[in-house]
Amino acid sequence: MSPILLNGDAPKTNGHAAKKHYDGFGTRAIHAGSEPNPLTGAVIPPISLSTTYKQDAIGVHKGFEYSRSGNPNRDALEEALAAVEAGGAQALAFSSGSATTATVLQSLGPDAHIVSVNDVYGGTFRYMTKVAKINQGLETTFVDLENADDDTIVAAFRPNTKLVWIETPTNPTLRLIDLQRVAKLAHAHPSQPLVLVDNTFMSPFYQSPLLQGADIVVHSLTKEAALPAERHWRGSEPI
Ligand SMILES: *Cc1c(COP(=O)(O)O)cnc(C)c1O
Repeated sequence: MSPILLNGDAPKTNGHAAKKHYDGFGTRAIHAGSEPNPLTGAVIPPISLSTTYKQDAIGVHKGFEYSRSGNPNRDALEEALAAVEAGGAQALAFSSGSATTATVLQSLGPDAHIVSVNDVYGGTFRYMTKVAKINQGLETTFVDLENADDDTIVAAFRPNTKLVWIETPTNPTLRLIDLQRVAKLAHAHPSQPLVLVDNTFMSPFYQSPLLQGADIVVHSLTKEAALPAERHWRGSEPI
């Protein structure tokens, strides 16, 4: 699964229990989205296998109608991810990192232009330059966002630039991009592109792009499963 995390105000609760606020990263990672089950007291969320849910009348239900649109386990994962990604208002989980990439780029509509870091993950590069280019007319300008000066970056923006795609550190060459600088340049431009950061390599534990000016964060959780074992702690916060 992979999430998109969106910056901004937290949404109103959608009929489920109000979200609790936890301070420490470790507490959020363990408890957010994982409250004891109100019916049984189970502390680990039971796996929900139902595809469809009972409706007392059309649209009258307990928050779930069909598993593709919402499922208790996916909700729990999304709540946990929104809680650990500092500044995250809401998360959406998909079946892979690349499904997330496809969804974000499709949401830009036909004939959009984006600016991307030139050293972007190979699967992302191929989606941009092959699938999205052919299917929706997406045009991508690849820029060395690590070394380019401000004028070079701004010169890449067009009136229909809808997104700036940043990955930092990049996979696999570990280039580092100044998120605050690029976000500031993007948001000051008249085309007002959204700024997206692929935070797969650092994870929310080490890097918080939403606090650096990004509008959207994406992760491939395929890679991040390995990270917790490498973390170092002092008290309740990472060092
Ligand atoms: C692996 C990876 C992806 C794609 O994720 P999948 O879950 O394999 O589709 C996207 N971005 C980065 C940086 C990756 O390493």
